[in-house]
Amino acid sequence: KAQGRPGPPPREAVPGVRHIVAVGSGKGGVGKSTVAVNLALGFAAEGLRTGILDADLYGPSIPKLLGLEGKPAVRDDGIFAPHEAYGLKAMSIGSMLTANQAVVWRGPMATSALRQLLRESDWGGLDVLVVDLPPGTGDIQISLVQQVPLLGAVIVSTPQDLALIDAKKAMDMLLRTDVPILGLIENMSYFVAPDTGKRYDIFGHGGAKTAASTFDIPFLGEIPLVMSIRESSDAGRPVVATDPDGAEAQAFRAIVRTI
Ligand code: ADP
Repeated sequence: KAQGRPGPPPREAVPGVRHIVAVGSGKGGVGKSTVAVNLALGFAAEGLRTGILDADLYGPSIPKLLGLEGKPAVRDDGIFAPHEAYGLKAMSIGSMLTANQAVVWRGPMATSALRQLLRESDWGGLDVLVVDLPPGTGDIQISLVQQVPLLGAVIVSTPQDLALIDAKKAMDMLLRTDVPILGLIENMSYFVAPDTGKRYDIFGHGGAKTAASTFDIPFLGEIPLVMSIRESSDAGRPVVATDPDGAEAQAFRAIVRTI
């Protein structure tokens, strides 16, 4: 019999949730949360009952991206009633903190807070729950992906070498924890100047596709750097919900259909 430390306990299903898709990245600031929200809205647009859990305790941005206000309601039995926005059920670690309050929890506290948001929320029967993971490959991410049966994880990276180096580490962590990788999305892929139509590869080009083939995982698509994505995100009006016929929304929806 194998010696050494015991393995992680078996993954436990989340009540009221059929499939869980995690969205991760190697680095912060690559657009992971923006992609997570728009993918969730893409699943909802396909007619799936969808929720989103913001587990990015270092930079929870789902409340801002979806325009959520205040804390979620708590039912008499102590179970959270998730926020609802644009047809999504949403829970965020950010809703539990006051503005500008930084998270200083140690790993086990953070893990148990996330566990509570995930398992003590009334998701009310979801086909898909999208989980916006913290960036990187720390203990919190590892215990999260080890505790939850995931359909798989999507990794978001920019085409920049520095971001891709860390994205590869994130993919390596997922492989080591037996999480299927659904694919890699290249965000901020290129910029087309609206006045001249000239294309600029601001962060380089093609690296994510190469990384995906190195890892033998699907390359799910490219999302360009577009002012409207930044503006609509800041305004709590994500493009897939508010401009469903636009090119940006269609790019996210095309990715959703391949997952
Ligand atoms: P992360 O979750 O990786 O930290 P965010 O989703 O918070 O990243 O995105 C970081 C910033 O970049 C935000 O201001 C967001 O609006 C902007 N952003 C993300 N993706 C795009 C894009 N494709 N085009 C323009 N701005 C983007």
